[in-house]
Amino acid sequence: MIASPHASEGFGQLGRHLVCGSRRMAADLATLVADKIRSGVLPLPPEPPQKYFAGKGTRQLCDVCERPITEEDLEYELDLGGRTLRFHEKCLDMWRQPRG
Ligand SMILES: [Zn+2]
Repeated sequence: MIASPHASEGFGQLGRHLVCGSRRMAADLATLVADKIRSGVLPLPPEPPQKYFAGKGTRQLCDVCERPITEEDLEYELDLGGRTLRFHEKCLDMWRQPRG
């Protein structure tokens, strides 16, 4: 009897599964933010917090999840160190959460 492919392949190849991992969005997002900060892709949130500009999404990519921020979402924009960061609301929340 051969075990189901899911049982044997589900672990150890996490990279392949990230793309469709929307079910565990919150946990994945936290991991993503932590990874990006650690690798320097994403700066640390400013202290004290700066002003954000919130507006309707313009289909630009979110700096956390790298998905477009659509018209149905609010886009949060922040100028930091000469670059403009854009976030979904939930991604911004995740970024600003204290970690450690
Ligand atoms: Zn996002």
